[in-house]
Amino acid sequence: MKCPNCGNEMKSKIRDYEYVESGLKNVVLKGITVHECKHCGEMLPEISNVKQIHKWIAEYLLSKGAPLTGEEFRFLRKAMGKSAKETALSLAVNPVSISRWENNKEKIGPQSDRLFRVAFILDTNSIAALSPATILLKHAREILQCAVSGHKKLKSEKIVITPQKVRQEHADAHD
Ligand SMILES: [Zn+2]
Repeated sequence: MKCPNCGNEMKSKIRDYEYVESGLKNVVLKGITVHECKHCGEMLPEISNVKQIHKWIAEYLLSKGAPLTGEEFRFLRKAMGKSAKETALSLAVNPVSISRWENNKEKIGPQSDRLFRVAFILDTNSIAALSPATILLKHAREILQCAVSGHKKLKSEKIVITPQKVRQEHADAHD
C-alpha cells in the first residue's frame, strides 16, 4: 500500500491504536491492522465495523459512573444525529451552554448529564443503532439510581475495544 501523503510504500503492523478519530482521547482499539509510513509518519488504521465500535463506546459512556466530559457529550450527541441547537431545546438549556460544555469551558450539571443520557436511550435513532431494549432499560435504571446516590468520582478510564468484543457484539446483532 502506497502512502497517500508522500507516495512511499507503507508497512502493515498489528498493533493497538488510539482511536482519536472518535473525538475521544481514551479509546484504544486492540490488535488492529495499521499501515504506517516511515517517511512521513502517516498512519492508516483498518477499522472494520465502525458502527459496532461506536455502539460499544456509547454503551460504555451511558453507564459510566462519573460525569460526562465535553468530548463524551459531543460523541453521544453526534451518535444521536442531533445538532447543538436541537439538543439545547430538548434539555431546556441555552445553545451557548452546549458549546461551553463540549469545549470543557463549563461543567455539565448533574441534572443535564442524567437527562441527556436518558434522552439518548429514549431517542428512536439511538435505539435503532444500539442494543435490545432490555439492555437500554438496564442502563436507564442505572442512570436514575445515580441520581439518588450521586455520581461516583471516577478517573477517566481507558475504553479498550478488543477484536473479540467487536465480533461478540456483531454476533449479538444477528440474534
Ligand atoms: Zn508517507
